[in-house]
Amino acid sequence: MVVGGGISGIQAALDLGTAGFKVYLVDKAPTIGGHMAQLDKTFPTNDCSMCIESPKFVECNRHPNIEIMTYAEVDSVEGKAGDFTVTLIKKPRYIDESKCTGCTVCVEYCPVQYPDQFNQEIWNDTIKTHTLDKNRVKEMLRKWQTNTQRNSNEKH
Ligand code: SF4
Repeated sequence: MVVGGGISGIQAALDLGTAGFKVYLVDKAPTIGGHMAQLDKTFPTNDCSMCIESPKFVECNRHPNIEIMTYAEVDSVEGKAGDFTVTLIKKPRYIDESKCTGCTVCVEYCPVQYPDQFNQEIWNDTIKTHTLDKNRVKEMLRKWQTNTQRNSNEKH
């Protein structure tokens, strides 16, 4: 198991998987990529971050020995070297992941604005429905309903 799906974790998973080990690549975020995916250029070569990372995303996803487990956190680790039992908490996305194609139609039609966590909440974006956070969505929906009710009352 590799915990952390940033560039180091991705490369570790690829190296282990290619060496013949079954690898579970775990990340608490909704996607692999880590902080590098948020950068434009990388030191010292000034290369485009995504140009380096995205081929590795695809390679990880297609690798027969790698199973990517995103939106999952390590809850407990038991056992000893060579014989660990790890319990993960998998956060729900409230969609059927096996059917989601990432088409983003749900994002287009979502009426609720939500601070964009990937961009450090610098601006609002519509909810990424395919990565719902129940508590934050409830809070945003409450605000949206209050605003809608207020607008409706002002019209009458
Ligand atoms: S991105 Fe949204 S609309 Fe598209 S398949 Fe996934 S859940 Fe459905």
